[in-house]
Amino acid sequence: MPKIAAFKTPSYEPLPHNGVVAYFSMEIAINPGMPTYSGGLGVLAGDTLRSAADLNTPLVAFSLLHRKGYFRQHLDEHGIQTEDIQPWVVEDFCTEETPRITVNIEDRIVTVRAWRYEMVGRSGHVIPIYLLDTDIPENSPWDRTLTDHLYGGDSNYRLQQEIVLGMGGVRMLHALGQRVNVYHMNEGHAAFLTLALLESQLGGGPLNRVSPVDIEAVRKQCVFTTHTPVPAGHDRFSIEQSIRILGGERTARLESLGCCHEGMLNMTYVALRFSRYCNGVALQHGNVSRAMFPEYRVDAITNGVHAPTWVSPQFQDLFDRSIDHWRRDNLFLRNAIEVPLEEVIRAHAQAKETLLAEVASRTGLVLNPKVLTLGFARRAATYKRADLLFTHPERLVEIAKAAGGLQILYAGKAHPQDFPGKEIIHQVIEKAHEISGADLRIVYLENYDWDLGALLTAGVDVWVNTPRRPYEASGTSGMKAALNGVPSLSILDGWWIEGCLEGFTGWAIEDGADDIAEADNLYAKLENSVVALYNRGAEAWGKLMRTTIAYNGSFFNTNRMVKQYIRNAYYPMSLLPLSEVEEEVAAK
Ligand SMILES: *Cc1c(COP(=O)(O)O)cnc(C)c1O
Repeated sequence: MPKIAAFKTPSYEPLPHNGVVAYFSMEIAINPGMPTYSGGLGVLAGDTLRSAADLNTPLVAFSLLHRKGYFRQHLDEHGIQTEDIQPWVVEDFCTEETPRITVNIEDRIVTVRAWRYEMVGRSGHVIPIYLLDTDIPENSPWDRTLTDHLYGGDSNYRLQQEIVLGMGGVRMLHALGQRVNVYHMNEGHAAFLTLALLESQLGGGPLNRVSPVDIEAVRKQCVFTTHTPVPAGHDRFSIEQSIRILGGERTARLESLGCCHEGMLNMTYVALRFSRYCNGVALQHGNVSRAMFPEYRVDAITNGVHAPTWVSPQFQDLFDRSIDHWRRDNLFLRNAIEVPLEEVIRAHAQAKETLLAEVASRTGLVLNPKVLTLGFARRAATYKRADLLFTHPERLVEIAKAAGGLQILYAGKAHPQDFPGKEIIHQVIEKAHEISGADLRIVYLENYDWDLGALLTAGVDVWVNTPRRPYEASGTSGMKAALNGVPSLSILDGWWIEGCLEGFTGWAIEDGADDIAEADNLYAKLENSVVALYNRGAEAWGKLMRTTIAYNGSFFNTNRMVKQYIRNAYYPMSLLPLSEVEEEVAAK
């Protein structure tokens, strides 16, 4: 096969930089064997670090160790979810660091250590990820559990974890001798890092001496990304709780500096207040965030996924053979428009077979590789409306019959305390039992995680997403699908507003007045566009897969996204003429 691009380029890309970035995130999907993430936020953090390593970015990362993980999901035959802990062997992945630091929590001094994981980029550049751990003998039995459970416990537990992450992280960074110029808060969980920076700016002096100059010194170093318009996604603590756990003086100071909202200490406001640059995670999310926080300037950098992590082995092989440099610069995936159709069709058929084999081995159910197969997998949050497809079950049965068969694969966990989310899983599974038959096969797969996500997004024919607008800040699973030539059928929310080219990358479900109207629009698009095209045969479908890769795979990736962070958030100074930078700063 002819290679498309034929010029010589260097094997690495030197990037402009003014120093080291410290990236803080409550969850990071580091390695499929480490249950240190729960969903989209953690996967995005992991993909960001993988691309930053590929791009030789000088960056170090901080998170908590999460010894007992998030949770392993079990679903019984009625769709009732139960949860198990996910202990993992830390020493198999990480090395213990020598320094120990302490943080004050309530009236206690808690000792913290760090474990180092090395994330290695494609040309050998290493990004160290430090996972903070309080499970050491000098701590009380309670404090030893503080870094065990991701999103576990109550809000007291969460506040204590956030002190370990933010304040502990900065102190550990200093103890490790790392010199950092940029601190990136990936979501508000890590916002106490600004408090540690402020205290270090004051040289241990009392917080009530803080001056505008001190605040500016902290702001100059900090960057903040907000990730959701859903209120529950923004951590808030009562003033009483904050005084008790964080301390009276710190609470008073944060309050006087505008970090409280509606009478609560609000981690998003802490982060906004102390950052020189803030952004949302897609164009629309930028707009929504500006409306939520009108007193702050909020940019948008659209999310992506790490292509080599999420492209199936079959498509990786095809891209390696036919698209020069795609690993170094994902923008070259635009050249997928010239990859032979039969190769695209074959690569997808193989990924579908791999997925169906996994379904058979997990459930005993043998699905038909020729039949149109839809995928829907994500956290079972209510706004994502996993049950929308079941609004009129008889319509779904009708469509399946007319299509000559339809298969739907579901997966997703509900947070252990999210009872409405659990009820949605239960409803989907009960309805699936009721209406599954010869033409319509519906399977809910247990324990959605990285590995299952990779198989599903690569192996189904269409990726479905039905969020209630405008709550999907970005969404990233559809981007994984796009890189594998899998089009989306989705509500125009989050990234899909930017990614939907009707008939070329998938289809938009039209907005409706309510859930019922949107369900009707979903059925109509499924029947008239999706099924109709699928039944026109492999060639027509193959062309759709190819344009999906070319248009969306080439853009919705973290290779492009990290470059945008570098140029707009981390080091704007290194690229703009100084006068322009000063104007920008003055304008704020
Ligand atoms: C990609 C991914 C997500 C995020 O998917 P969304 O579409 O953003 O909801 C969540 N969980 C897992 C396991 C993933 O791989």
